[in-house]
Amino acid sequence: WDAGKYSGMVEDYGCDYETVNRLNEEVLHPILQELVKTSFFRYFKVKLWCDCPFWPDDGMCHLRDCSVCECPDNEFPELFKEPSKARLADNMACQEGKPQAAVNRTLDNPWTHDDETDNVGMTYVNLQLNPERYTGYSGPSARRIWDAIYKENCAKYPSKESCSEQKVLYKLISGLHSSISVHIASDYLIDEVLQLWDENLDLLHDRVMRHPERIRNLYFTFFFVLRAVTKAADYLEQFEYNTGNSQEELKTTQSLVRELVFNPKIRAACPLPIDEAQLWKGEEGPELMHQIQKQFRNISAMMDCVGCEKCRLWGKLQVLGLGTALDILFSGNVTSNLIQPLQLERNEIIALINLLNRLSESVKFVHEMGPKAEKLVKGK
Ligand code: FAD
Repeated sequence: WDAGKYSGMVEDYGCDYETVNRLNEEVLHPILQELVKTSFFRYFKVKLWCDCPFWPDDGMCHLRDCSVCECPDNEFPELFKEPSKARLADNMACQEGKPQAAVNRTLDNPWTHDDETDNVGMTYVNLQLNPERYTGYSGPSARRIWDAIYKENCAKYPSKESCSEQKVLYKLISGLHSSISVHIASDYLIDEVLQLWDENLDLLHDRVMRHPERIRNLYFTFFFVLRAVTKAADYLEQFEYNTGNSQEELKTTQSLVRELVFNPKIRAACPLPIDEAQLWKGEEGPELMHQIQKQFRNISAMMDCVGCEKCRLWGKLQVLGLGTALDILFSGNVTSNLIQPLQLERNEIIALINLLNRLSESVKFVHEMGPKAEKLVKGK
C-alpha cells in the first residue's frame, strides 16, 4: 500500500485511507461475507431478459462464463415468491419503449425502478453460485455502454464549476466501474482449456491502480453506501428476514445485520460523514434533484443493454443498490417540508448489502494486491 499516494482523507469523509482499510478488514469484510451467504441475502429476483431501450441489440455474449445459472424452483424460498409489500409502481424491470426512462413515479423510490410485484419473466438467482468475475464480455458493446453512461449521463471529468451533486453521481458510477474491474482482475480466466482461474495483476494495474482517481472513487462509493446502511440502521434492524428456513438461520441473519448497522467501531472510526443536508440546497435544488434522478434511472435502464447475462445481473443488482443508497441518503432532503418515511423493498435491501459486500471486497483486494501489481509492472 503506497501510503504516500493514497494518504489523506477519503474524499468528503472524515476518514483516512488507512483507517478505512483497517475497519474494512477487521470488521466489515468478515461480517458482510457471512451475511451474503444467508438465505435472505443470497437470492436475488431479477428480470434478465429485457430489450435494450436505447439501441437495437448487437448480440449477446455466448461465452460459457457469461451465462447465469438460475435457481431450480424448489431452491428459492417460498416466502420470496410473494412481494414483500405492494407498491403502486410502474414495471421497473423492463423499460422497453421508454428511452428516457421517463417513468411517472410519485409514490415509490424515485432513484430506482424495481417492482417486486411484477413476477412476469422474473428469474431467481443464487448469487453465491454466480460470482461477479471475468466473463470475456468486452469490445464495442461493453465500451458503448460505459461511454453512454459517462457521456450522456454524467459529466465525464467534472470541471471545478460543475455542481457537487453532479460530481457525486460521477464518483459513484466511476467507483462502481472500478469495483467491477477489480472483480475481473481478482477472478480471471488464465487458461481456457484447463479452466484455470487466478488473479490478473497486470489488469488490476492497468485498469485501476495506475489511475489514482479511480481508486479514490472506489473508496468514496464504498463509504457512501456504508453511510446509507448505517443511516438506515433502525429500518434495517426491523426488517423481516424470515425466509421460511430454520429459526436458527433467521437469528444469525438478524444478529449479523445488527452487528453491521450498529457497530460502534464503524461509528467511532469515521465520525464526519458527507453532509447530505448541504446538497440540493438553493433555489435550483429540487430541479437538480429531478434531473439527476432522471439521469440515474437512465443508467439503470441501460443495464438492459449489457450484452452478457452475468454482467447484466451484477450491473442491475449494483445499480439498484446504489439507487437504494441514494434514496436512503437523499429522499426527503429536497422538499424540506415533505419528509417521507423510508420504505424499501426486499430486493432493494438485498441489492444494497450485496453491493456493499462487493465494494468491501474490492477495497480489500486493492489494498492487499495493489502494491504487488505496481511492483510487478515496474519490474517488467
Ligand atoms: P472498460 O472497463 O470497458 O472502460 C471503458 C473506458 O471507461 C476506459 O477506457 C476509460 O476511459 C473509462 N474508465 C474505465 N474505468 C473507469 C473508472 N473506474 N472511472 C471512470 N472511467 C473509467 N466484464 C467482465 O468480465 N465481468 C463482469 O462482471 C462485467 N460486468 C460488466 C457490467 C457492466 C454494467 C458493463 C457495462 C460491463 C461489464 N463488463 C464485465 C465488461 C467490463 O467492464 C469492460 O468493459 C471490459 O472488460 C473491457 O474493458 P476495457 O479495458 O475496454 O475498459
